[in-house]
Amino acid sequence: MSFVITSECIKCEVCVNVCPASAIIDGGEQFIITDSCIDCGECQISCPIDAIRGVKKNNI
Ligand code: SF4
Ligand code: SF4
Repeated sequence: MSFVITSECIKCEVCVNVCPASAIIDGGEQFIITDSCIDCGECQISCPIDAIRGVKKNNI
């Protein structure tokens, strides 16, 4: 499982503060998850508006 932030993001910064890998950065219109992500899932759990989706890897 990897995680992506959708355009619903309101840039509240909650996920940035819980990420243990400092993998979430300001991408302009929304926050984005970088390659530093260790797939822990904490951001998805913490997002107040459910803007972070878990996606299966190698699902092409
Ligand atoms: S899954 Fe974990 S490491 Fe990856 S962006 Fe979310 S909180 Fe950070
Ligand atoms: S917690 Fe959710 S709404 Fe807040 S910055 Fe992160 S993805 Fe965006």
